[in-house]
Amino acid sequence: MFLTISTTGTSERPATDLGYLLHKHPEKAQTFSTSHGTAHVFYPEASADRCTAALLLEVDPVALVRRGKGRGGAPDAALAQYVNDRPYAASSLLSVAMTTVFKSALKGDCRAMPERAREALPLRLEVPALPARGGAELVRKLFLPLGWTRVEAEAVPLDERFPEWGDSRYVRLVLEGELRLADALRQLYVLLPVLDDAKHYWVAPDEVDKLLRAGEGWLAGHPERKLITSRYLSRRLGLTRQAAEQLELVRLAESDDLEVESVDNAVDETTDTEEKPLPLAERRRSAILEALRTAGASRVLDLGCGQGQLVQALLKDARFTEIVGVDVSVRALTVAARRLKLDRMGERQAGRITLRQGALTYTDKQLKGYDAAVLSEVIEHLDLDRLPALEYAVFGSARPRTVLVTTPNVEYNVRWETLPAGHVRHSDHRFEWTREQFRDWAGQVAGRHGYTAEFVPVGPEDPEVGPPTQMAVFTMTTADGTTTKTADGTTTKEAEAA
Ligand code: SAH
Repeated sequence: MFLTISTTGTSERPATDLGYLLHKHPEKAQTFSTSHGTAHVFYPEASADRCTAALLLEVDPVALVRRGKGRGGAPDAALAQYVNDRPYAASSLLSVAMTTVFKSALKGDCRAMPERAREALPLRLEVPALPARGGAELVRKLFLPLGWTRVEAEAVPLDERFPEWGDSRYVRLVLEGELRLADALRQLYVLLPVLDDAKHYWVAPDEVDKLLRAGEGWLAGHPERKLITSRYLSRRLGLTRQAAEQLELVRLAESDDLEVESVDNAVDETTDTEEKPLPLAERRRSAILEALRTAGASRVLDLGCGQGQLVQALLKDARFTEIVGVDVSVRALTVAARRLKLDRMGERQAGRITLRQGALTYTDKQLKGYDAAVLSEVIEHLDLDRLPALEYAVFGSARPRTVLVTTPNVEYNVRWETLPAGHVRHSDHRFEWTREQFRDWAGQVAGRHGYTAEFVPVGPEDPEVGPPTQMAVFTMTTADGTTTKTADGTTTKEAEAA
């Protein structure tokens, strides 16, 4: 199993700096003992212009099989186990060896040249025989989104003397591009076993952490992240789900978006001149507070609370005894905590508030048993295909008695003078709905989960295109354990311990 890493340089920035970055001196050949065999690091070339480091892993197949047995592998899978291709092409083992041999380089640590470690270098990586389930096509799909300018995956024939035998499952992989060395190594660390797709050491729960650490900065946004996660974790469903959830948090936090919703803050000019015109965001909060009071809610979830403006408004009304703000964005939550002056708040007030990070597309037991949930200008930030997941988490799992959902009415966009035709109101909006589309969706959601839906316009209603914001008020119709109607018609909570 063989990997070479090459770079080019000049007399001022010699290629041999690679030695510092890898923490391996170009003039020495070194040997390391790893859990599956012996790893050798040496430099076939080392000049200011070009420098190549090679990692050769000699796998001990007998030790490998013994290890497998010790860990519950088949006790006697006969000779086949000894005559496998692992010594030649065990790419997942190479990946394990990398963690021993290039530990600091994988982390991007380099005390001698910290700036160099942070910079992109002209790199060329080659793995002459890489087992690749999914072939050259998958190899390209995996590496091309990662910034490589050349991704070559050439099928290796089964036997050069007999071309009619066809290709083996190996490819010769060459990657070229300007990348940080640590990023390139971390990609390989994850993608070699993904392509091999035959990880044979035990997949422990901390594999998820390893994957997330190695995937930092590139995995969350990778178009093939599902395949990568599933194969890396040997298709263990529980772990794959856990990783997917974490990655979604990362991805959302990366696309974290705290732009001011400019249209929202636009003043509505059509109101009476005597009255101070109200920004739409403020009108929305009033409409939400009003609906929560009407519903008699006191324990309220603000899902996708953003920077906490609604939480702040809820806090001013003592009838709201418990307020939970949930958002995926740590930045937004930090701003919210600052806005609320949580650190200087008296104990009693602070006791009413919880701010939590979470993704609304995953069920969360801690969100069960509340009176009401608000999704104010949140659904349009989700990709349409994630909406069913949010629907299930809120209406199927958390199941508050009342749910308020607000979203822009796209029909109204023609009335915003500052909005170019055909544009959505905010760069992060994945969709904006007409009144009919919203009613359709809300009606179906209500039907599926035992709620009724009523619709409330927010902001000045235009005779033709309707209001700028639309709100649906969902009310649970089926008592299902958490709430029951008493004889006098008021709703009380049952013991939630059940
Ligand atoms: N409710 C606030 C903020 C709306 S902006 C208001 O009305 O002003 C949308 C918010 O939803 C953002 O803060 C964003 O971080 C959050 N969000 C988007 N997708 C999310 C998800 N899947 N899980 C949790 N929060 C999400």
